Amino acid sequence: MATSNKVIITCAVTGSIHTPTMSPYLPITPQEIAEAAIGAAEAGAAIVHLHARDPKTGKPDQRPEAFAPFLPVIKQRCNAVINLTSGGSPTMRVEERVKPAEVFKPEVASLNMGSMNFALFPMLNRYKSFKFDWEEPYLEGTRDLIFRNTFRDIEFVLKTCQNNDTRFEFECYDIGHLYSLAHFLERGLVKPPLFVQSVFGILGGIGTHPEDVMHMRRTADRLLGRENYRWSVLGAGRSQMPIAAMAASMGGNVRVGLEDSLWIGPGKLAESNAQQVSKARQIIEGRQPRRGAGNPVAERRRQGRILRLGRPQFPD
Ligand SMILES: [Zn+2]
Repeated sequence: MATSNKVIITCAVTGSIHTPTMSPYLPITPQEIAEAAIGAAEAGAAIVHLHARDPKTGKPDQRPEAFAPFLPVIKQRCNAVINLTSGGSPTMRVEERVKPAEVFKPEVASLNMGSMNFALFPMLNRYKSFKFDWEEPYLEGTRDLIFRNTFRDIEFVLKTCQNNDTRFEFECYDIGHLYSLAHFLERGLVKPPLFVQSVFGILGGIGTHPEDVMHMRRTADRLLGRENYRWSVLGAGRSQMPIAAMAASMGGNVRVGLEDSLWIGPGKLAESNAQQVSKARQIIEGRQPRRGAGNPVAERRRQGRILRLGRPQFPD
């Protein structure tokens, strides 16, 4: 596959992990989500990964109607690749989770590669009270929650999207998820180049030690073949930038955004998604100074080629 050394920055602007009490900067309304995505693209994100929320309460909302108000605005006002979640929230069934990708046929959709405990309850200790009624039981409920992504579920998402030209951000929260992805590659149900998003630091998945990052990379190389995939990483919470730096130094791509971390520094909330994109960009550019070689961060058109996106607006 392409040997480009351009780094793809993905920005996941709101997600379903954090709740409105945790940060006043978390995008909630369609306008806030659109502004966040456009700001992230302007700061250098080539892909924006999108979830929707109820504009009044901030609760994750996976209905296509919840995505409809912001998708055209983002499409019109920036040229970032749109990546719609099929993860939704860990509490939702796969049929519900895949709906926005089924209806809007995005260039990229996320696809979670295994069932797991997805524990958010440790965050409860940080807050004495919550802005909305749903937040506390939502976090508390993760003590006894399985984020279900069986082989049948994964096949269901692949099948639902198969005629839409949608490619995938394969989310791998643990080593076993790479084995599951290799299984689908072997069966020919997924096609290289695979865009592998390694997720570090969700309780229930792999941790954030440098050994974990190395092991994920080595295992993906061995199982998938380095030529068959593009590697991206995200670190949850305070590990976001250290993991980004590690991966950037290993030739990986980087995902940031308020879905993954609310922070820009120790004890300091990020005031926008763009702020995190800019910081990731500084890290990447530090790794790879310009020296006349152009911008090391992949702009949108270029990364379309790197990932072999099928849409006609990217002729090369
Ligand atoms: Zn997501």
